[in-house]
Amino acid sequence: MRNMRTLIFVLTISISSVQAQDAKFTEVWRPEPRTVLPGKSPSDAPADAIVLLNGNDLSQWENVSDKKTIKWRSGDNAMTVIKGGGNIQTKQSFGDCQLHIEWRTPAEVKASGQNRGNSGIFFMSRYELQVLDSYGNRTYSNGQAGSIYKQHIPLVNASKAPGEWQTYDVIFTAPRFNADSSVKSPARITVFQNGILVQNNVEIIGSTSNVGIAHYIPHPEKLPLMLQDHGDEVSFRNVWVREL
Ligand code: MG
Repeated sequence: MRNMRTLIFVLTISISSVQAQDAKFTEVWRPEPRTVLPGKSPSDAPADAIVLLNGNDLSQWENVSDKKTIKWRSGDNAMTVIKGGGNIQTKQSFGDCQLHIEWRTPAEVKASGQNRGNSGIFFMSRYELQVLDSYGNRTYSNGQAGSIYKQHIPLVNASKAPGEWQTYDVIFTAPRFNADSSVKSPARITVFQNGILVQNNVEIIGSTSNVGIAHYIPHPEKLPLMLQDHGDEVSFRNVWVREL
């Protein structure tokens, strides 16, 4: 019995040392990641993305209020808020996703603070990534461009000047809820503004709220992406999403 144990021990040590010397032992070949053809530039949608806006086709969007054709302006390969046009949303719903979106605040500066180039990207129609002209425009830090509105201050101010196109590249993880409506796992978000990290996998506290502390209300696994009409003529272009 004792000899047998010694033999097993010696064999184990021998096999381990052979494995340690063979680089192949730590190679993993399965699964093989599927191939995705990238776009020609970071603005272009990869082959497996859902294109939500490319050029002047607004067919992927609808009014939030009546689900009819949006009243925003289309032209120059972009869509632009018309004051009073109302919030718009995608016809399709999304949960976990990677989003690329480009936005531009008006070149002509007419106001300050929250009234200067304000819009917003609401994941699942609830969780706002703020869009604002934050180029030399001080406002509360958790309400400037790159903030998760009233929840998370951006790591830096990565804003370009008014009238210039800016990019957001986002990784969004939807919240999960238990059967008893409690939160199983909160939503998380990572945001790059103009290629600069501004939100690093932060935990979203709840549905965006302008007044009071945000909290979660259980909702479906997938919901539309919403863009805000805050009364300023903010434009959007090259919008695509990859479901994760
Ligand atoms: Mg906003």
